[in-house]
Amino acid sequence: MAFFDTHCHIDFDEFEDDRSKVLADATACNVSHMLVPGVTLAQSAKLLSLENTQGITFYKALGLHPYFLSEHQQGDFERLATLAKSHRDSLVAIGECGIDRSIGKLDYQQQLFLQHIELANQLSLPLVVHHRKSHDLIAEAFKALKPKCGGIIHAFSGSAQVANYYVEQGFKLGVGGTITYARAQKTRDVIASMPIENLVLETDAPSMPLYGFQGERNTPSQITRVFDELCELKGIETQSARIMLAEQLYSSSCSVLRI
Ligand SMILES: [Zn+2]
Repeated sequence: MAFFDTHCHIDFDEFEDDRSKVLADATACNVSHMLVPGVTLAQSAKLLSLENTQGITFYKALGLHPYFLSEHQQGDFERLATLAKSHRDSLVAIGECGIDRSIGKLDYQQQLFLQHIELANQLSLPLVVHHRKSHDLIAEAFKALKPKCGGIIHAFSGSAQVANYYVEQGFKLGVGGTITYARAQKTRDVIASMPIENLVLETDAPSMPLYGFQGERNTPSQITRVFDELCELKGIETQSARIMLAEQLYSSSCSVLRI
C-alpha cells in the first residue's frame, strides 16, 4: 500500500525543527508521494529546490494562496508566472489558488484566480483550488475561463451538486481531515456517495488537524487515519478491499496530476 498526500505543506516553518522525523514517520505510514503547493512568491521560489528525500517523492505546484493576500505585492503574479514558465518541467500543477470569502477583497481574489487559471491553461497544468464559502465564485471563474486540465478541489466540503459540478469540470475532490468530524456530516455523506475515481487523499499538514487532534500540528502520517475513515464511509472492511481502494486513490492522484 502506498499513499499520495496530494496536499502537504512540508516546507512550512512548522516542520523546521523536526522535518526529517516527520518524513520518517510518513514513510513508515507508507506515504511515498507528496504534492507541495505554493502559497507566496518567495515560498514558491524556494519550493523549487526541494529535493526528494527519505523515500518520498515531492511534486510541486506554484501559486499565490488567497489566505496570504496581505503578503502578495504588486507584480508578484507576473513574477510567479515567469518562474512557472521557466520551471515548467519541475511542476505538476498551478496553485494553490482560489477564492476565500473569509479574507475579503473578493474582486482582487477573483482576478488573481482567473490569472492562475490562465497560467495553468497556458502551461497545460491542472489547478490546486482552495475554497471557503466560495463555490459560487469559483464556478463563476470557471465559466469565464474553463480550466483545460482540471485539477484538485483541495479540502472539498459541500453538497453532492457542487461535488458533481467539479467532477464534470475535470476535477478530483481532495479528501482530508474534514471527514473525521461528525459535524461535517453533509460532506461525509457526499464523499461516501462519490465514485472513488473522483477522490484523492490529502492532509494539508501542518493545517487541518483531524478530529481528536484539534489544536495540534497536523502531519502527513495522519493520511492513514483519513484513509481509515474513508474505508469506513465506503463500508470497506477486508484487507484486500482496502488495498484496492488505496491503489485506486493513488492512481487517481497520478492521473489528475498527469504523472
Ligand atoms: Zn494548503
